Amino acid sequence: MDYNSTLLVQHCAAAMSTSASAQLSKAVKQMYLELPQGEKVQAMYIWIDGTGEGLRCKTRTLDSEPKSIEDLPEWNFDGSSTYQSEGSNSDMFLIPVAMFRDPFRRDPNKLVLCEVLKYNRNTAETNLRHTCKQIMTMVENEHPWFGMEQEYTLLGMDGHPFGWPSNGFPGPQGPYYCGVGSDKAYGRDIVEAHYRACLYAGVKIAGTNAEVMPAQWEYQIGPCEGIDMGDHLWISRFILHRVCEDFGIVVSFDPKPITGNWNGAGCHTNFSTKRMRDDGGLKHIEEAIERLSKRHEYHIQSYDPKGGSDNARRLTGFHETSSIHEFSAGVANRGASIRIPRTVGQEQKGYFEDRRPSANCDPYAVTEALIRTCVLNETGDEPVQYKN
Ligand code: ADP
Ligand code: MN
Ligand code: MN
Ligand code: MN
Repeated sequence: MDYNSTLLVQHCAAAMSTSASAQLSKAVKQMYLELPQGEKVQAMYIWIDGTGEGLRCKTRTLDSEPKSIEDLPEWNFDGSSTYQSEGSNSDMFLIPVAMFRDPFRRDPNKLVLCEVLKYNRNTAETNLRHTCKQIMTMVENEHPWFGMEQEYTLLGMDGHPFGWPSNGFPGPQGPYYCGVGSDKAYGRDIVEAHYRACLYAGVKIAGTNAEVMPAQWEYQIGPCEGIDMGDHLWISRFILHRVCEDFGIVVSFDPKPITGNWNGAGCHTNFSTKRMRDDGGLKHIEEAIERLSKRHEYHIQSYDPKGGSDNARRLTGFHETSSIHEFSAGVANRGASIRIPRTVGQEQKGYFEDRRPSANCDPYAVTEALIRTCVLNETGDEPVQYKN
């Protein structure tokens, strides 16, 4: 960032009473960041905390640049401070599982996504990656692909949507979706910064657009195969939180941040297997939808961190959603649980979209549920236990 744009950021931050740290001089910070870092490398370890939604991070110095995940040491943290354990046995393990370039500290520094194990090396309650990975390994010959559409809302430090009048509401929905212009697009700087940071990091970001509610946006991650879906989506969320921190803005993944006539925020999940993508794949898509229709409850439980109660505020049957109580599917139907894109209907192959997952869903839970029902053909309310 050059000096002038730095000043501008600071000026705007002050004008809209954002976070205190966003108002610290970024120009002075830059002075220090220009110091050569020598041979050492900074690795920021990132993990999901005990809420199943929050992300935590801490940094350590490595002697040289890690070339793969095997070069990254295990680490630990105090689980009693992250809602992850009691004080008496609070050491938790961080197991590196995916490594990305660090767009904030830049090369050769790294972002390191970690799984969390308890003191006895059992999987932590909110470490849903562990079973997801086992399930993905079972079906790797099917080459499952996912693409997730992450919607989110930008808020000021006061919890009010970014750019909304402090007393009252902006004009009704209509001009904002894919909008351009100061009166239609609220907070594009953050969107642009996040997009570039994801590309730099090596996160598989597929695109972005402004959403129906002002200050609400979407980006897509995918297509990603297997466990990569969850890994890339979680890192993209981390990057978004971190970018917003620089601007003094808060990102919310709440599925219905503003009640009333305002769209909620989802995380539509597009899914296919190799069979579905091959010629005549539509019959495999229809078969998968048939299986999903018999397991609606299980999927709703897996599609937000509170077992369906978060999503109940969003899946009302209005505002381009289906009712949480009913399963429905259709070609090009944005009011259904499952939508088959029109082009897929025409080409008789491709993928389908599950529109039910909430913006704050855990992608490991969502992708695991889709595989269990659509590929492993599970039925019933509970996931099946497999012997490994
Ligand atoms: P929408 O029309 O629902 O807004 P988007 O363009 O926002 O759709 O998102 C579509 C997503 O579908 C993208 O993330 C893309 O990567 C993903 N996708 C495309 N083809 C496939 C496929 N064969 N399997 C799984 N996901 C796919
Ligand atoms: Mn979309
Ligand atoms: Mn959308
Ligand atoms: Mn969609």
